[in-house]
Amino acid sequence: MPPCLSPRNSSLRSATFITLVVIGSLSGGLSYAQTPKLAPNGANSPPAEMPAATGPAQRMARFLDPGSGAWSPAQIAAMSRIRDAALADPYALIELRHLTDNIGPRLSGSPQAAQAVEYVAAEMRALGATVSLEKTSVPHWVRGEETGTLVAWPGMAPATTQKIVLTALGGSAATPPAGITAPVLVVPTFEALKALPAGAAKGKILLFNHSFDKQLAAQGHGGEAYGAAVVYRGAGPSVAAAAGAVAMLVRSVGGADYRLPHTGATFYDPSLPKIPAAAVTAEDADLLANLAEQGTVQMHLLLTPQTLPRVDSYNVIADWPGATHPDEIVIVSGHLDSWDLGTGAIDDGAGVVVSMQVLHLLRELAIHPARTIRFVAWMDEESGSDGAKTYAEEHAAEIPKHIGALESDLGSDHPIGITYAGAPALGEWLRPVAHALAPMGAGVISSAGDVGSDIESVVSRGVPGFTPSQDSRYYFNYHHTAADTFDKIDPRHLAENAAVMAVTAYALADAATPPPRATAPESPP
Ligand SMILES: [Zn+2]
Repeated sequence: MPPCLSPRNSSLRSATFITLVVIGSLSGGLSYAQTPKLAPNGANSPPAEMPAATGPAQRMARFLDPGSGAWSPAQIAAMSRIRDAALADPYALIELRHLTDNIGPRLSGSPQAAQAVEYVAAEMRALGATVSLEKTSVPHWVRGEETGTLVAWPGMAPATTQKIVLTALGGSAATPPAGITAPVLVVPTFEALKALPAGAAKGKILLFNHSFDKQLAAQGHGGEAYGAAVVYRGAGPSVAAAAGAVAMLVRSVGGADYRLPHTGATFYDPSLPKIPAAAVTAEDADLLANLAEQGTVQMHLLLTPQTLPRVDSYNVIADWPGATHPDEIVIVSGHLDSWDLGTGAIDDGAGVVVSMQVLHLLRELAIHPARTIRFVAWMDEESGSDGAKTYAEEHAAEIPKHIGALESDLGSDHPIGITYAGAPALGEWLRPVAHALAPMGAGVISSAGDVGSDIESVVSRGVPGFTPSQDSRYYFNYHHTAADTFDKIDPRHLAENAAVMAVTAYALADAATPPPRATAPESPP
């Protein structure tokens, strides 16, 4: 499934919450199951083995001591040590500054992506990890000129034009060299397009003006707001081409009002014409909708991106070998590629560097867990998840030995805990880990259908998946824009995410018993 349409990105994450176990808050109750908005089959009940906490005294006792579960008291103490070291360690921040400011945007197939692969591999070697580069084939699309200009509209001053702020979608076809001039048709939804008379879009530039739900994002459901709107970016060009349009515009999928266009991947149905596709800002979408209601709006659109032959690129894999079970693997990961408009700080330089910091902390603290912790910097999440597909193929035989997979790919704002995907019993298994994270406000355990598009290929085969439960209220303001830059990173929040990754990875890698696996994993895609 293309990344922009994957469950992760269309983000049903919090919509599939099944159990929230709160460890850090007395006011929120000591342990409770929160009624979800969307609860899959009977998943509302707490995990079966969760002990009943019937009265206030029992609840208090459970709050103060959740038990040590699969870990010894010494291992629980190590979790606190790792947490505190993570919060004091500037390593991730320093690495992110280099990735963003020195190397820059890391679009799949670009020289910067290649440089980032070399850089991260060298940094991991410097930590003493066992590094390998895993070859994968990626698209090589290069942005060109991109301009939108209104040349006729109701009420215009004679001999004037209006600028429309837009950016080509990743993978977009080019316009003819002289551009396209055509009337603009604005529809809010696919359904609204279908309801128009046949041929209504023929020869037109079609704008899907579907708003990003800012209220949903403001309430912490940024992923759901994104998911509801991103289908227009992903499928819009082919729907528009099927209706006879000559180009497709989409209202930017994002939450801020700074006249910023948000790029992102789009995907063409091979049986339909590949028409040029761009995202206009929310402000320009409103303007086009208003003018088009008044009469004919003519627009000149020029896009000159190039789709070059695919090139070889790499996942960077760095193993911190297990002391006693080196064949058993815990993945910690983020994706190294980024969009080209900004420098990929929040998406997903942050995920890469907090994962790098896991190995840095293990080295600094001289911790060698029983199992192998495997750092992966995935290549090409943004335009097809090619790196993740390659990993799933190349490591198919090892998947039963993968005992957990972590990915961070929702920015780096404050994490309130750990979100897991897999067996419901994982919630109870994680309680002592969440207890170790509670002092920094990250003691909430929640469950989602999916926890990262790169690890989806192993999670769908039954490997327990985990991600920091990041605050998504602001992420989509900058996501895929020119403003995804280093200054958007709060150093404290970045360190908190590193702490969640490091403590959870250590807990998985050193547990006496591995985490429960889903009994009936989905069959591989
Ligand atoms: Zn991402």
